[in-house]
Amino acid sequence: MEIFPHKPTKETLLLTDSFYFLCHSELSCFNSCCRNKHLPLTPYDVLRLKRGLNLHSDDFLSRYTLYRIDENSGFPVISLKMENTGDKPCPFVSDSGCLVYANRPSACRLYPLGRASRITENGTPEAFFFRLDTPNCLGIKEGTQWKVTDWIENQGLGPYLEWNDKMGSILFHPKREKGKPLSQGQIQKIIVACYNLDVFREFVFKTEFLTKVEIDNNLVSKAEQDDEPLLEIGLIYLHRFLF
Ligand code: SF4
Ligand code: SF4
Repeated sequence: MEIFPHKPTKETLLLTDSFYFLCHSELSCFNSCCRNKHLPLTPYDVLRLKRGLNLHSDDFLSRYTLYRIDENSGFPVISLKMENTGDKPCPFVSDSGCLVYANRPSACRLYPLGRASRITENGTPEAFFFRLDTPNCLGIKEGTQWKVTDWIENQGLGPYLEWNDKMGSILFHPKREKGKPLSQGQIQKIIVACYNLDVFREFVFKTEFLTKVEIDNNLVSKAEQDDEPLLEIGLIYLHRFLF
């Protein structure tokens, strides 16, 4: 799955490798990168943004996102809808920077890096990092030296990468037949359980869901109020019923 808004360079980075980067408001390119982007959102990105904006997930999805099917994986891709004006700014960019900085998506946190997964010879997914091709970004031409692992910590990427890896276990599900399109029913299940959490909560608590899907009681009681345990239930549900 594509999880970055720029083309990758050929340079693959390990956690202990370093790169240079410094972004600040004095640079002439400040804010120029927050426009006209294909910016895919992961389930945890959507969770953080809709909660940070205090919106119902249905409202967030219809107001701020686009939807398409990825032609390689067959999975639904939710991406941030750029404004339809001028140079197509991100709906959250302002003169002083990102209005949702505390809950900005993982691709924005990772920048100028990208992260993707590949299947190793023994069939397990393995994540790797790479430098993005960002010729107009002045921040990569000056700046501080970062180890990838320090950048992850500095940008608060820990929970984002953890949840993205959990989602990877659905994308790379062993029973998934490569190249076979998903049915409308499967696509609907993924969208509701991963991205439309407030609707999924009603499905879990207001239907017979819990009589059909065995879920740990402790997780169930946490999921009534919190989104992360609910997303956990969503992934359990997809693992058991998707393929
Ligand atoms: S330095 Fe790079 S990331 Fe920062 S504002 Fe400029 S283009 Fe964007
Ligand atoms: S979410 Fe914030 S950091 Fe990401 S593109 Fe929009 S304004 Fe820029």
